Order: sequence, then C-alpha cells, then structure tokens
Amino acid sequence: MLMPMRRLLEPAVNIFLPPLCALTGERLPHRGMSLSETVIRELVEQGERPYCYHCGRTMLEASANLRHACNACNRRKAPPRMLLRLGEFGGSLSQIILRIKFGGRFELAAAVAPVWHQAITHNLDLLGRPPVDALIPVPLHWRRRVQRGFNQAEELALALARLGHWPVIHALTRRRSTSEQARALGALQRRMNMRQAFTTRPRINLRGQHVWLIDDVRTSGATLAGAARALQQLPLRQRPASVNAIVLCVTQPRAD
Ligand SMILES: [Zn+2]
Repeated sequence: MLMPMRRLLEPAVNIFLPPLCALTGERLPHRGMSLSETVIRELVEQGERPYCYHCGRTMLEASANLRHACNACNRRKAPPRMLLRLGEFGGSLSQIILRIKFGGRFELAAAVAPVWHQAITHNLDLLGRPPVDALIPVPLHWRRRVQRGFNQAEELALALARLGHWPVIHALTRRRSTSEQARALGALQRRMNMRQAFTTRPRINLRGQHVWLIDDVRTSGATLAGAARALQQLPLRQRPASVNAIVLCVTQPRAD
C-alpha cells in the first residue's frame, strides 16, 4: 500500500524539491534527470570495456582483440548466439537494477537506457552483425508478474526500443515458477528445468528475423539459453534467423 501512495505523491512533492540523483543524492541540474553525471560517467566507462560476446564477462584488451569468446565459451557454446551488455554487476549498475526490480523505480530504466543503447550500438558496429530486428523481453511466470506488478525485462526492453526504434515482441511465456524451488538445486538440474520453462505464444512468426532477448541480469546463462531454445524450436517457417541477447549486466554464477 505504501509504494503506490508514495508514487502518487512523488510528482507533487518533486515540484517543490530540487531534483536529486536516485543513487548518490547529488543535486541535478535539470528536472527530468534521475542520475548524476558521476553515475553516467561510471556507466559509460563500463560500457567501453571489452568483453566476451557469449557470457559477457570483461576481458583483457589483448584477448578481446579476437572479438570472439573467452576460453570457457570457446570450449562450450550455448545459445543464445551472441550477448551484448552494459557492464558487470556491481557499483551503480547493481543499485539501478535493484531499484527497478524491487523498488519499481521505472524512471531508472529510462535513465540508464541512453548509455546502454550507446554501448550496444557501439558493439554492434564493431561486430557488423547480426542486425536487431526485434527485442523479446524474457517473461516472468504469471504468478510472479502479478505479485510484482510488472516485469523489469519488459520495462527495460521498452526503454531500449524507444531509442533504437526497434519493435518489442512478446513472443514467450514462462510455464513454470522456477525461482524458489530451483535455487535449492544444482546447476545441472537448474539448466534442465530451464529447458522446459519457456514456450512460444500462439501464432508467433519470427521467420528470417534476428531477434534479441532482453533481460536485466545474466547469471549462469540458463534462463537465456532456455528462452533461446524455445524460439529455436518454432516450426521452420516461423523460426528466427538468429537468437541473441542484450542484458544490462552479467554476474558471476554461484559456485555449485
Ligand atoms: Zn565467455
């Protein structure tokens, strides 16, 4: 009850108060801004680091010159085909994600989107392929969606789509509530669960399109792999040309 009330009152209160950075509390020069220059600079700097285009982990400049994959991904490539990200979990990026996800601070999705979009297009230019034909947010299970009231992946996809003029297609549904139960399981079991966790919506046709899954965080990669597999299992005449992914950040999987 408190959250909707706060959101309702915020615009009125904000008219009288100077705008402050949602993270650092610094005074902002313009209304409509949510993040300070300090935070934006930190994000831009993260977006410029070279990384593995499969797992998203930051790489040394020398090894990243290969512009392919880190050693681990070279040994074992799982779908999606390519992954682009803004940074690694930590610092301002993790605070932004937590505030969007658990605080419903949607304006932060819009605030981080320009830096994210810039980092994505920079890497797409470097790679020269594949194009972005559509964004597909990774869905939550309907029960979780109702509990939370929104899906952060959808909010992020919409903010990014506005800047890139990309269509957003809700192509997937999640058939299992995988989180709580799966946390107790090992990595292998989680991967197996994720294989059946997603299904495509009826009458979805992605034929010939290079589609990009959108999520806030990539941890083990099992969720993105599960979602990508569901799209790849569409009948041939509806199947996309490639399934890739864009995330805000990547985090190291837990050791298990
Ligand atoms: Zn890698």
